Amino acid sequence: MKLHLDTELCQGHSRCVMVAPELFDADEDGYSMLLHNGDVPASLHNKARLAVDNCPEYAIEVLEG
Ligand code: SF4
Repeated sequence: MKLHLDTELCQGHSRCVMVAPELFDADEDGYSMLLHNGDVPASLHNKARLAVDNCPEYAIEVLEG
């Protein structure tokens, strides 16, 4: 699975970081950034989908998988 984060849409709630800290981190301004270039190992697919579902701005999408 691969994720894409639209930084124009991200408002920095950090909900993604809370539900999937293995996949997201906050930058110095509090906006989210993808770890591992957005690549998601199979063991974290559920967490990735949880992050997508919990982003109020629809800023995260699944590109593959
Ligand atoms: S939940 Fe969405 S809008 Fe909020 S920080 Fe994460 S990607 Fe950005």
